[in-house]
Amino acid sequence: MLLRFSLNADLITSADIPDEAVAAIGQAVDEANKSTFQRGVPAEAEPNDIGRIMAWNAAGTALHLEIESGPYTRAHDALFRFRKQLAPVLGRHRIGIRSIEVTAFTVRLEGTIDPAAIPHLPMIRETAADEEGITLTLDVSPTDLENKVPDRLVRLIEEKAEAHAYGGKAEHWELIYESPKQPVQFTDDPTAEMLKRGWIKHGASRGQWIFGPQPVQLFRAFETIVIEEIIRPLGFSEMIFPKLVPWEVWKRSGHAKGVYPEIYYVFTPKTRDPAYWEDVADYYKVTGEVPVEMIRDRLDGPIGGMCYAQCPPFWPFVQGETLANDCLPARVFDRSGTSHRYESGGIHGIERVDEFHRIEVLWLGTADQTVEVADRLHEAYTRVFDELLELEWRCARVTPWFMAQEGLVGVSENESIGTRDYEAILPYSNGWLEFQNVSVNGNKYPKGFNVKIQSGAECWSGCSGIGLERWTAAFLAQKGFDVSKWPERVAKLMGEPEEVFRFL
Ligand code: ATP
Ligand code: ZN
Ligand code: MG
Repeated sequence: MLLRFSLNADLITSADIPDEAVAAIGQAVDEANKSTFQRGVPAEAEPNDIGRIMAWNAAGTALHLEIESGPYTRAHDALFRFRKQLAPVLGRHRIGIRSIEVTAFTVRLEGTIDPAAIPHLPMIRETAADEEGITLTLDVSPTDLENKVPDRLVRLIEEKAEAHAYGGKAEHWELIYESPKQPVQFTDDPTAEMLKRGWIKHGASRGQWIFGPQPVQLFRAFETIVIEEIIRPLGFSEMIFPKLVPWEVWKRSGHAKGVYPEIYYVFTPKTRDPAYWEDVADYYKVTGEVPVEMIRDRLDGPIGGMCYAQCPPFWPFVQGETLANDCLPARVFDRSGTSHRYESGGIHGIERVDEFHRIEVLWLGTADQTVEVADRLHEAYTRVFDELLELEWRCARVTPWFMAQEGLVGVSENESIGTRDYEAILPYSNGWLEFQNVSVNGNKYPKGFNVKIQSGAECWSGCSGIGLERWTAAFLAQKGFDVSKWPERVAKLMGEPEEVFRFL
């Protein structure tokens, strides 16, 4: 894709630019074009690709500049480099640069660009399309330019164009393991059966279950197996991760790029002064209705959301730190609370819900250490599913979560970065259910949270989310409810289902 930037701006000075300064400004412009703007540009770049001051003139307290560039030393970068270079030149005439006024900024993109890839942003004043491409006229302040808004905009358009080009294609899915077949022991939907038996009831909120003692016995049986067979032998230690996640964390983890449709948002009261809330409480007392609109007016936020992926809120623990070589690979896990996702119409049984329970396993270290832990985990899981749970399951390499989130499909360029999904067959529907995954996330989180390693090696991390509802759905769908026919270890840990409630 051909890329051009053109920028008109005025550098506003603290006093009229005297005639004596004009020659020195001309010299500064020449030097900028010949050397300052060439810095950091790859040797193969065409002269036309590099930022250049095309025209300038000084009038009163304004130095008018017209800058053009291709992809290197982009017009806006050139502007700031030039300001820095010019400051001492004007300083000799006791003149300072007060401010910058951007009078025009356009971005030209050539190539096949789907109009749907052009985002609707307040900064785009006008989009003009022609045979060869599009021209975007931007409304941008100097601060926007310093914050690299044009670069992010171009990157976003490229990403959207890629996603559109992939449009119809399926996400990457590549089988890497298939378990032996298992005899079919049950063919009904386990959620319906649990409801019939009074093991679970719908919670008052959407996509939420109240789990009675019996399914919780099974949850805990699975937890014990995970801890005894996987987590302890592989040396993971328990932590407690927060479950309310502020934007600051999702900005760094990358989730802020796309998680919006599925978040359960969190707000705080504007004040905890009871007087401020009295009329809300009174309204409820009189009408018996909670005045949701009145409440909305009295809230700040959203400040973030409820736990979505379990690991991002761990990262502030190591943020900005350098990890000692001898503590790596650091291995931890969290099972301290619920995860929440707005699954909309996708809700199904206990396996796709808005509120669920997960054990999240997380590790970090060098690239080799991180990949090694993922492989050890995969081996341990394989043994548990084949020998202890006797599941019929398979494992596939899929599009990594962070690529999926950016609307991309396929696999990462680095072979060892990516996600493995673990899927079990559900005999009642003959469909496959993803019940957990293992991801090697490369330097994604350490980079986002600025985590380094003593040796200077690049820090990588991985994580694995063990969904207890999904394990339970998969296990019961295949093994049914006759505990005497279950694999021995699970049956023993489960014990007799406890019948606490009897309804008349
Ligand atoms: P799916 O494609 O089924 O929606 P996902 O790709 O969104 O799954 P991940 O983001 O990889 O899932 O989450 C990791 C794990 O969390 C899943 O393997 C699963 O065990 C669990 N999980 C995710 N979403 C739900 C949900 N809505 N209900 C129950 N468990 C879930
Ligand atoms: Zn994770
Ligand atoms: Mg999902």
